[in-house]
Amino acid sequence: MGLIKLQDKTFKPFLSEEQILAAVKSVADKIAADYKDQNPIFVGVLNGSFMFVSDFLKAYDFPCEVSFVKLSSYQGLTSTGIVETLLDLPENIEGRSVIILEDIIDTGRTLKELIHLFSRTNVKEFKIATLFYKSSVYRGEYPIDYFGLDIPDKFIVGYGLDYNEQGRNLKEVYQLNQTTMINLVL
Ligand code: 5GP
Repeated sequence: MGLIKLQDKTFKPFLSEEQILAAVKSVADKIAADYKDQNPIFVGVLNGSFMFVSDFLKAYDFPCEVSFVKLSSYQGLTSTGIVETLLDLPENIEGRSVIILEDIIDTGRTLKELIHLFSRTNVKEFKIATLFYKSSVYRGEYPIDYFGLDIPDKFIVGYGLDYNEQGRNLKEVYQLNQTTMINLVL
């Protein structure tokens, strides 16, 4: 792993494939300990969670179902940062245990919208699992039930996470090279 360039930004290695897969397994093991007999529905949040959901399901070797939701952020157009659902919730969630699979939780704004979405349903319960969690900037009231790694407040790409839609296909995770940013600003 070395430095990579995506469009105008340089990124440095942050997490290897092995470190990521170990974090994915730790989330799967924790959830399995609580849900292995309950046939939960895992709901991945697109686009960023697709790699996490794939590896998570391979590590979670118990009965379960999987579905996806997609939210669209309109931050650029409104000051309120309204989030719209593009792909709606699965139909068979009534009375079920639903576990949301997020790639990353930052401030918690997106999560708040997801909670709003699920609170209008008749699910038995819903839990939040995220691979990466920036706990130092999380401002939500809802506790994060399961997380893989608590990471610093630095922008990352790879393993499903993008920079302007680039870098999602990287199997490792890279961190924005701040030195380059400062150089660019100067
Ligand atoms: P939140 O709503 O919790 O502030 O942010 C969550 C969303 O912001 C994530 O689903 C992701 O799309 C984006 N995001 C937050 N932090 C990062 C990051 O470090 N890298 C990338 N690529 N996206 C991030």
